[in-house]
Amino acid sequence: MVARGIAGAVCGDDNATMRFCSSCGSARIGLRVPDGDSLPRHVCEACGEIHYQNPKVVVGCLPTYGERVLMCLRAIEPRRGLWTLPAGFLENGETVVAGAARETWEEAHARVDVGELYTLISLPHINQIYMVFRATLPEPAFAPGPESLEVRLFDEHEVPWDRIAFRTIGRTLRNFFLDRKLGGFPTRVSALERRPPAPPELRGAG
Ligand code: ZN
Repeated sequence: MVARGIAGAVCGDDNATMRFCSSCGSARIGLRVPDGDSLPRHVCEACGEIHYQNPKVVVGCLPTYGERVLMCLRAIEPRRGLWTLPAGFLENGETVVAGAARETWEEAHARVDVGELYTLISLPHINQIYMVFRATLPEPAFAPGPESLEVRLFDEHEVPWDRIAFRTIGRTLRNFFLDRKLGGFPTRVSALERRPPAPPELRGAG
């Protein structure tokens, strides 16, 4: 029996070869440019389904209480043991604001008032888009969710800059503290490319 819904794309690598059609279960998947299209797509040769793949959206919050920022110590891979802001994949049928609030509840058990969009970062090499909203904690109530080892508020001088889980989060935090000094928080749209390989002298060290 072939389980429906199997698509061969491996989590974290949306460019992986698709092994089975998620509509009919056939393994006859071709990669070709459909009529009227401009890019190669995975096309099922059995049922004709065209399997479009598009970027995933990561939504999160930069929650503050007074001057301090709420951060989570990751309990799961990737980047277990490093600090991040509460963020995760947007679900189907969910608004980006609701998703950001949900992730903040799941990872930090904090109820937040979600404010304006702050950073929008394209990550074309992993087919993701990050959207981080500023948010405020009405009260300093929070606790680690199942994906966090610890949740705490940081003053700017306490932020563990050498133990930040993701470049998107480091960039968001650096912008935030800079913009706070400047007195405004414009939406910051940017992109991150694939991280260049480490120079040979740093590879394999330790
Ligand atoms: Zn099919």
